Amino acid sequence: MSTTYDVIVLGSGPGGYVAAIRCAQLGLKAAIVEREKLGGICLNWGCIPTKALLRSAEIKHYMDHASDYGLKVAGAIEADLEAVVKRSRGVASQLNQGVGHLMKKNKIAVHMGEGTLTGPTSMTVKGEKGEEKLTAKHVIVATGARARDLPFAPADGKRVWTYRTAMTPPEMPKKLLVIGSGAIGIEFASFYNDMGAEVTVVEMLDRIVPVEDKDVSAFLEKSLTKQGMTIMTGAGVDDINVSDGGVMAKIKDAKGKVSEQEFTHCIVAIGIVPNTEDIGLEKLVEMEKGFVQIDEYGRTKSKGLWAIGDCTPGPWLAHKASHEGVTCAESIAKELGNKDVHPHPLDRTSIPGCTYCHPQVASVGLTEAKAKEAGHEVKAGTFPFIGNGKAIALGEAEGFIKTVFDAKTGELLGAHMIGAEVTELIQGYTVGKTLETTEAELMNTVFPHPTLSEMMHESVLAAYGKALHI
Ligand SMILES: Cc1cc2nc3c(=O)[nH]c(=O)nc-3n(C[C@H](O)[C@H](O)[C@H](O)COP(=O)(O)OP(=O)(O)OC[C@H]3O[C@@H](n4cnc5c(N)ncnc54)[C@H](O)[C@@H]3O)c2cc1C
Repeated sequence: MSTTYDVIVLGSGPGGYVAAIRCAQLGLKAAIVEREKLGGICLNWGCIPTKALLRSAEIKHYMDHASDYGLKVAGAIEADLEAVVKRSRGVASQLNQGVGHLMKKNKIAVHMGEGTLTGPTSMTVKGEKGEEKLTAKHVIVATGARARDLPFAPADGKRVWTYRTAMTPPEMPKKLLVIGSGAIGIEFASFYNDMGAEVTVVEMLDRIVPVEDKDVSAFLEKSLTKQGMTIMTGAGVDDINVSDGGVMAKIKDAKGKVSEQEFTHCIVAIGIVPNTEDIGLEKLVEMEKGFVQIDEYGRTKSKGLWAIGDCTPGPWLAHKASHEGVTCAESIAKELGNKDVHPHPLDRTSIPGCTYCHPQVASVGLTEAKAKEAGHEVKAGTFPFIGNGKAIALGEAEGFIKTVFDAKTGELLGAHMIGAEVTELIQGYTVGKTLETTEAELMNTVFPHPTLSEMMHESVLAAYGKALHI
């Protein structure tokens, strides 16, 4: 006997659980299958617990600098790593339970166990209840991704860590090697640096946070170096020797010089691998490097089988996964006869990206270099935090905001920010980009004073030689 649904979602991350909720809102009988924890990587092992850790680091940073604000702290500030991690796990657990409540509220059936497709719209689930057989009119694969291992040094949870161990460390690293300087690598580097570890970041490409605008990468490198980190770009870790006492890494620097350096621990943050093997997908979908190929609504090549989130082509971000979840659910409802839904495919040029290191980094759209590569005649403007009253009042005068426009049409092509709270500010430009805004509309917009957002205005003015406070 198999249980039948309109839609089964395989995987309950921000892609899967959001898709299931939207299906339920549209009157579809929905189920979700999860082998580990409701909420997926994002809530349990990704976005949220890392931000909880980084918040502790941020507060420590402020307390370390209390005297800058005229405040006296009795005694030295000490980080209690175990307590910091406990708080982060508490936050993750609260949100995991929240997803459970949302499933109940929306009457979504939850099947805990390992799902394997037996056809495009059927699967078995092996869990605590034994083996269940499920069928549906449509199935959405939202199985996410996991950390990529270094072939010569697989993570061991003791000395060589992936993000999971880095989030629940067995001990405080004294001397930490971080391999990879994407968002995940840099966030952990920033956290452990603030917590008092001696941190070295090794990046293969010629700059850190390589997807960001070059000016942002350069500014961040300078800032992190000033905070005491060692940053090696154009460099590679050729080998790692793990012992009980630590990690010996063979590192080739940008000039080709090889040195052996000793660390207590190492975090490998060199990318992700999609969870798409051994779940019956191979014959049903096309894959490239393991990522399921989909159309702009999430359809695979098998009728009734859809895919969203980190198991499909990037960017591999929670908000991208959720957005795809909504589009996919609405497309399914439409196929099932709902005439009131009008699914919108994701606009890939307007997906913001945020890195919550210190200082924060945020961007949306094309970098100046990419805009030029794409054939645009470019107008770019930059405004520094030091020219903003609120930034100075906050004691956060480090950073800048850069905007990139098409010189002929005035279209906003991209925005790039580094500094305090930019991960909150970026959404202003994202809304603008989605509405296909131009420099004229942004210049005519009134920004409240005193706010950091005034720099968003000034950056646009700067692109046209009209900046007021610099
Ligand atoms: C350390 C870290 C920090 C991050 N920070 C951010 C951030 O700040 N902002 C941001 O946007 N993104 C961030 N991300 C990325 C974000 O977590 C992912 O993009 C997001 O979780 C992808 O969502 P998803 O629904 O596609 O998959 P996932 O969240 O990976 O969920 C997939 C779920 O499917 C389940 N599953 C897989 N296979 C099966 C199976 N066969 N049967 C049953 N269940 C299965 C898994 O157990 C998992 O729960 C971060 C990631 C990491 C690792």
